[in-house]
Amino acid sequence: MPELPEVETTRLGISPHIEKQTVHSVIVRNGKLRWPVPNAIKKILPKQILLSITRRGKYLILEFKNGCLLIHLGMSGSLQVVSPKKELRKHDHVDIIFKNNQCLRYHDPRRFGSILWTNKPPFEHKLLKDLGPEPLDKTFNAQHLWDRSRKRRVTIKQFIMDSHNVVGVGNIYASESLFRAGIHPRRAAGKVSLEQYNLLVKSIKTVIKAAIKQGGTTLKDFTGGDGKPGYFQQRLNVYGRKGEPCRQCDKPISHCVMGQRATYYCTVCQK
Ligand SMILES: [Zn+2]
Repeated sequence: MPELPEVETTRLGISPHIEKQTVHSVIVRNGKLRWPVPNAIKKILPKQILLSITRRGKYLILEFKNGCLLIHLGMSGSLQVVSPKKELRKHDHVDIIFKNNQCLRYHDPRRFGSILWTNKPPFEHKLLKDLGPEPLDKTFNAQHLWDRSRKRRVTIKQFIMDSHNVVGVGNIYASESLFRAGIHPRRAAGKVSLEQYNLLVKSIKTVIKAAIKQGGTTLKDFTGGDGKPGYFQQRLNVYGRKGEPCRQCDKPISHCVMGQRATYYCTVCQK
């Protein structure tokens, strides 16, 4: 599933080719995504200049003069900039063709992603307005998590994966960050000290930054490559390493399922 680092890498990859360019036309081959792709964009977008591409959580925001496209990649979506004449693959559902002869192509085998149009300020959209801070933003700090977690009995892993508290901490990043911070994933969020939240916030920032950097080196080609991410090439300390020796203490890594998600940790290094 595309996580925040992959979405950010996508943003960085596609922006130079289509930002400040004028839309020529829009082709919707299959608009049945998580929500229907609004037919109106075929009329609204042509002749409009794409002013900027920003990101909030896992949403890409393509800003035009009279509104914004919100794009979410869902479980299996990807975006590429290609020649409009490039041969179609199965599941290439939407093309936004620009006058500079570049085409932003949306590909999504499972169709859990979304392409929505809003003419209101994007951050007020119902999908964005309740999102917590960005992990790399200054407002995401130990005090923020500590304040929000008092008296909370939810596990720390589920707490940091809840996008109301912070966006972008996916399952892999949660396991890896908790290992780095030495916190057991089953601890109640309300029982984690401010000092430990300090370590955890630093760990989350480090892990996400590394993933974006990794994405930037693996996802080099957004103009014709297959857009496949390389996150599993990252050196992981615990995720997916059940039974393998902990890199810090040699004890075999433990595994359990929490909130229906695979969870990996070291019983010695994480308390
Ligand atoms: Zn260990």
